[in-house]
Amino acid sequence: MDIVKLIGDRLTLEENGNKFKSICPFHINSEDFYTLLIDPEKQTYTCLKCGAHGGLEEFYKNYEGKTSL
Ligand SMILES: [Zn+2]
Repeated sequence: MDIVKLIGDRLTLEENGNKFKSICPFHINSEDFYTLLIDPEKQTYTCLKCGAHGGLEEFYKNYEGKTSL
């Protein structure tokens, strides 16, 4: 599983150079702001606003509320 695919299946992604960005699902009032940066090389995500970050498993756990892929 690729983190870009995992997040892209759930959120709208926008290309940003060799990275991707999206609207962060982990904080409120995030509607119009692409603060979630996804790094395909490192397979990580980071939100510039709320500080949410991690890899595949953290995203899945936090987004789906389940503990494993
Ligand atoms: Zn956030």
